[in-house]
Amino acid sequence: MSKPNAWVTLATNDGYAIGALVLAHSLRKVATAHKIHIIYTDGVTPNMLHQLQSTFDDSTLVDVLDSKDEANLALIQRPDLGVTFTKLHCWLLTQYAKCVFLDADTLVIRNADELFERPEITAAPDMGWPDYFNSGVFVFEPSEETYHKLVQFGLQYGSFDGGDQGLLNLFFSNWRELDARHRLPLIYNLCASVVYTYMAALKRHGDQVKIVHFLGAQKPWLKGGPTPLPAFWALWFAIYDEKVRGTVPSDIEGPTSDERRQAWEQGRPDYQGRDAFENIMKAIEKSLS
Ligand code: UDP
Ligand code: MN
Repeated sequence: MSKPNAWVTLATNDGYAIGALVLAHSLRKVATAHKIHIIYTDGVTPNMLHQLQSTFDDSTLVDVLDSKDEANLALIQRPDLGVTFTKLHCWLLTQYAKCVFLDADTLVIRNADELFERPEITAAPDMGWPDYFNSGVFVFEPSEETYHKLVQFGLQYGSFDGGDQGLLNLFFSNWRELDARHRLPLIYNLCASVVYTYMAALKRHGDQVKIVHFLGAQKPWLKGGPTPLPAFWALWFAIYDEKVRGTVPSDIEGPTSDERRQAWEQGRPDYQGRDAFENIMKAIEKSLS
């Protein structure tokens, strides 16, 4: 029997776990045919873990700091790379043939299963520096050998940005020269936290967006000010309200209704009702066409 494919995400605390839950529900909503797997650490509280395990197909506890393996040794010398080394664990999921890693702050709003036809390493350009790929969405092939190489590489060279994106871009440094199959259109990793300087392109392609990324310090599950693309944030809140709110421990801060309202100022779709997600999608399509 051939191995299955999987979407993989990561959460090291309850905030990112909320993001991961919304992400998993978004993948179910678009009826993905592939497994959904979460890597987590003991920074996730038991109640939240219970929610993750009943939502994801499978999960892996990763405890980089306590492990006696080479990743631990690497971290003793580079403690700044903690979360980055945790993310590298996705390459150890060799029970899958191919995987797509998704940051916990992403949302899949249209079926994107065709990504599994892409080779390692496939990703979209970073919005801030397009010569590098953004590591919030990438296609990879699990392999112990690659994992060990990545850890060794990280130990030797570190990460020029202190995170996984710098390390992965150094390791896959020829990404920009690879053939077109390795480069994703921006609709697979549209940053909903930047102000677009090319509005005409966003208007032209906005209704084809498949994966939204809430990159940066402000996350949907944190309190914060207004955002550049409120309609995409409203989609996140629609899934949060429908599937997650009320199931997570009460001491975790979700968006208040005021913040949700702020996040959706244009138009007046029924953004809190049962069909909130569909209504907002329609409103986005209408406002862009
Ligand atoms: N992450 C995590 N705990 C952290 C920081 C990051 O679990 O404290 C994971 C999570 O999956 C997150 C990813 O690492 O989506 C990358 O971090 P983030 O999305 O915050 O970076 P950005 O996309 O904003 O650069
Ligand atoms: Mn991210």
